[in-house]
Amino acid sequence: MQKQPLMFIGLGNMGLPMATRLLAAGHPTAGHDTIPKPEWQQAGGTWRAEPVQQDETIIISMLPGDPQMLALYIEEQALFTRLRPDTLILDCSTASPSAVSRLAEAAQRHKLRFLSAPVSGGVTGATNGTLTFMVGGASEDLAAVKPLLEIMGGNIFHAGGITAGQSVKLCNNMLLAIHMIGTCEALALGERLGLDPRTLSEIMGASSGDNWSLRKYNPWPGLLATAPASRDYEGGFSVRLMVKDLTLALDAADASAVTPRLGALALEIYRRHFAAGHSERDFSHILTTLRPPPE
Ligand code: NAD
Repeated sequence: MQKQPLMFIGLGNMGLPMATRLLAAGHPTAGHDTIPKPEWQQAGGTWRAEPVQQDETIIISMLPGDPQMLALYIEEQALFTRLRPDTLILDCSTASPSAVSRLAEAAQRHKLRFLSAPVSGGVTGATNGTLTFMVGGASEDLAAVKPLLEIMGGNIFHAGGITAGQSVKLCNNMLLAIHMIGTCEALALGERLGLDPRTLSEIMGASSGDNWSLRKYNPWPGLLATAPASRDYEGGFSVRLMVKDLTLALDAADASAVTPRLGALALEIYRRHFAAGHSERDFSHILTTLRPPPE
C-alpha cells in the first residue's frame, strides 16, 4: 500500500499509541485532539489545532463515545460538511449502535465512506499492534483500510453491517466487566485463605478459571508488569468508560427484551466505584473494593 497521509483524531490512552504505530510504519499522520498532546509531537507527528483536512483521504477517530463523535462529525464541529466527497472515515470508538447509524446516514448524504470499527485489547494491544478490530460497514471500505488495521491490530473481523461491530463490542465488554469482577473476587478470597496471589493466578490460569482479566490484565498490583494494576491503575481503560459501555450494553438488552442479571449487577458495582471518586482509574481498580489497597 502506498504510504498515504492520514488524519488521526483523539490522541488519548488508545489513540496516541495507535497513531504512533501508523507514523512509525511510514504513514505521514496528522493528529488532532481537543487538548494539547505534546507526546504526539515528540513522537514525530504533525499537530493540528483544528481537525482540518489537507491531503488526507482517510480520517481515523478514537473518541470517548457518542457525544464526542456526534459533536465532531455532525453537530458542533460538523466535520462531515467540510470533508471532500469519498473521504473514508474509520471510527474506532466504542459507541451506541444508534449513534453509529446516525453517522452512517449523514456520511451517505455527504457522499463520504464510513466504517465503525471498535477495538479490544487495551493500551497494551494498541502499543504492540495486537488489537482486535470488530468492523461494521461495506467490504470494499474495509478492504481499503485493511493494511492500516494490520499495522494497529492482530485480528481483523468483518462483523457485518455498519452497527455490527458495536454490537459485538458491547457483548464483549459486558462479559469483560463480569470476568474482571469475578477475577478480583477469586484473588481477594485466595489471599484471605492464605494463598500467594501469584501462585493462585498461575494455577487458575492453567485451570478452568482461566480468563483474559486474569492472564493478560491481572488486577493484582505487581503480578503483571504490563497491567495498569502495576502502575497504580493509571492509563488503562477507565471506570468512566466501563460505565459507558455497560450502560450501552444494558440499553441494548432492554430494547431486545433480554435480562442480563450479571451485566446489570456489574454496572451497579462500577457506577458505585465511579461515584466513590475513581472514574479515571483503570477498571481493574475494582479490586480495591474487596481488599485494602497495598501499604
Ligand atoms: P481517552 O479518554 O483516554 O481518550 C479520548 C481522547 O479523545 C482524549 O484525548 C480527548 O481529549 C479526545 N477528544 C474528546 N473529544 C474530542 C473531539 N471532539 N475532538 C478531538 N478529540 C477529542 O479514551 P481511551 O481510553 O483512549 O478510549 C477511546 C475509545 O476507545 C473509547 O470509546 C473507549 O471506550 C474505547 N476503548 C478503550 C480501551 C482502553 O483500554 N482504554 C480499550 C478498547 C476500547
